Amino acid sequence: MTIAVIGTGFVGVVTAAAFAKFGNQVYGLDIDATKIKKLEQAQLPFFEPGLEELVKAGVVSGRLKFTTSYTTAISGAEVIFISVGTPSAPDGQADIKYVLAAAQSLAPYLKSGAIVVVKSTVPPSTNSKIEAIIKQHTKKDFYVTSAPEFLKEGTAVFDFLNPNRVVIGTTNPHVAKILTELHQPLEAEVVVVRPESAQMAKYAANAYLAQRITFINQMANLCEKNGADVQEVVAAIGFDERIGGHYWYPGLGYGGSCFPKDVKELAAYSRAIGEGDGLFVKIDELNEARIPKLIHKWDEKVSGFTGKTVAVLGLSFKPNTSDVREAPARKVIPLLQSLGAKVTAYDPQALEESKSLYQNVTFADSILDAAHTADVLILLIEWDEFKSLDFNKLKSVMKNHVFIDTRNQYEPEEVEKHGFKYIGTGR
Ligand code: NAD
Repeated sequence: MTIAVIGTGFVGVVTAAAFAKFGNQVYGLDIDATKIKKLEQAQLPFFEPGLEELVKAGVVSGRLKFTTSYTTAISGAEVIFISVGTPSAPDGQADIKYVLAAAQSLAPYLKSGAIVVVKSTVPPSTNSKIEAIIKQHTKKDFYVTSAPEFLKEGTAVFDFLNPNRVVIGTTNPHVAKILTELHQPLEAEVVVVRPESAQMAKYAANAYLAQRITFINQMANLCEKNGADVQEVVAAIGFDERIGGHYWYPGLGYGGSCFPKDVKELAAYSRAIGEGDGLFVKIDELNEARIPKLIHKWDEKVSGFTGKTVAVLGLSFKPNTSDVREAPARKVIPLLQSLGAKVTAYDPQALEESKSLYQNVTFADSILDAAHTADVLILLIEWDEFKSLDFNKLKSVMKNHVFIDTRNQYEPEEVEKHGFKYIGTGR
């Protein structure tokens, strides 16, 4: 099949490269010429494990091409994915202006019978807006459908190639057949539902996962007051099959490019259609308050950050990505500085992305460089590189010895035996 993918961000590049792998002829299209220049040379504008190899294979095969030209990408495309960003608008609802701009730009070049698939996360009613815009610019027949994306940054290639389901939102049997065939190499359950259900399924999945993180953080707060250890609580509740032992992450709250905005968007969308937004607003509020509350607790536990040097490990929003959107460090570092701390920082992949985001931060090339003469070491993100810290070496380079383990990666005794004060989450 001939495919165009509009928006070569985290979702678009994976989508384009994966469909090229399965023998389709694919164009990845973006308005960002710098990004496209890199991709044309099979270089990634961001870090995502396994993606560069996939892109390289596609480019070498001649099946994967990148362009900034709508004429080039759209004219021959039978299926067009829209995977541009959908940030929150000032009122909290999804800002779909990039989606609508893409629809307008693609319309004049549409091939008759083309299927436009909305992969971006958008609220129900977006497809009819896209349809109306396209109709203003073409007389050709076309279809608009939904296929929300469920991949996770950090494991995006694996997730895309091994999905636990593919959700297609259409009521048209012809479109359902073509898109089911296109996704067949993924050997996944294909769930065909009406477009509104597909879009709600994406919001429901993200809001549910966000609320799980918020829920366990509330439990962690209680555990800190009563001698329980939230990790033990997680282990104990996980045996209940209705609950499960997976996806419990007590820590700094959720971040990244999706959960924060999707929860806010769902709250604003609920309000806009006259429904109660209480649950979603509360999840968002608790998450927004999470880091300031933790900083306040740590400030007491370290007898004040004023005049101390704090080494921060982890600047991305989670491990295995260079994406710094809504990364915990974005809140943690300015708050530490406002309390009078000096900050040094290290990240395995997100240093370049972070340098312009902070003022007066010393960026280090290694864990030990960051920790050199520091009073406090804070582990924000559980990169593999941070999972076997050498506390003996750290002890010898640090001035004072406090370790804040926001992700509960270590057992307190294991750290304390090296002469460190250990501060975890919910224990
Ligand atoms: P991104 O910000 O990484 O990339 C979006 C790209 O779209 C950018 O490169 C931008 O230049 C391009 N773009 C904007 N307007 C354009 C236009 N008119 N024509 C062509 N290109 C244009 O976004 P992302 O993280 O890949 O997310 C894309 C969508 O997928 C969002 O709706 C997001 O919520 C959803 N999503 C993201 C993830 C994720 O983990 N990142 C997972 C699932 C779903």
